[in-house]
Amino acid sequence: MPEQQATLPRTPVLLGIPFDANSSYLRGAADAPPLIREAFHCDSSNSSTENGIELSPELVLDAGDLQLPAEAFIVIENAVVELLGKGQSPVCLGGDHSITYPILRAFANRFSDLTIVHFDAHPDLYEVFDGNRYSHACPFARIMEAGLAKRLIQIGIRTMNAHQRRQAERFGVQVVHMRELPAYEKLKLAGPIYLSFDMDVLDPAFAPGISHREPGGMSVREAIAHLHAITGDIVGADIVEYNPKQDVSKLTAMASAKILKEILGKIISG
Ligand code: MN
Ligand code: MN
Repeated sequence: MPEQQATLPRTPVLLGIPFDANSSYLRGAADAPPLIREAFHCDSSNSSTENGIELSPELVLDAGDLQLPAEAFIVIENAVVELLGKGQSPVCLGGDHSITYPILRAFANRFSDLTIVHFDAHPDLYEVFDGNRYSHACPFARIMEAGLAKRLIQIGIRTMNAHQRRQAERFGVQVVHMRELPAYEKLKLAGPIYLSFDMDVLDPAFAPGISHREPGGMSVREAIAHLHAITGDIVGADIVEYNPKQDVSKLTAMASAKILKEILGKIISG
């Protein structure tokens, strides 16, 4: 059994994961990490979060971007294990959503009772997609069948099909459909919590720089309101599926950086 840390980490550390080889439709998400960093540090905004944290370099560490070979997953898992071993909270900048599986393998090694809060237009619960079990359409099937989390809550879903509905039932996933929002009361949780934020949960009008545009999504404000509503300790997070090749005037880089700031503020304030 994995051992739970006695004290929860409060030092977020950024980790860029430039990987999109498991994207089923468009490549490009591998270009995202440096552009999210640039937007994060951009002088057009300040470094304050809405819960009153000033995100100084002392408060938010940066482990840089991974250099990934073909066998990327083990490199991702080992990098996250190493950061967790330092008592830090990895906040990974993807990359396509397939990277959440190796990241969660590392987290499950340290936390035995994780709750995952997953923001996405898509359930990503396919048993297999286009012959690829590690597709970005599959990570939460891999995570749940491996028992890497005790609970999975998905929010913003608006593409549920029959196969994934069966998968959600099989794994006991709590699905909060987009049409059911707001759903703040469903985010009153106890930690430790891992947060996985797929940028396509946002309406493409707010975040056009994604591979699978699914209209009818959250505004940035709705997403932040639901992030702020989460109770329980967030021990790590990822922001995935930003595709710079699809972006308009770096709007989605800025939206990614805004979501990043609010997640960091939540981690630091506990
Ligand atoms: Mn996804
Ligand atoms: Mn998605």
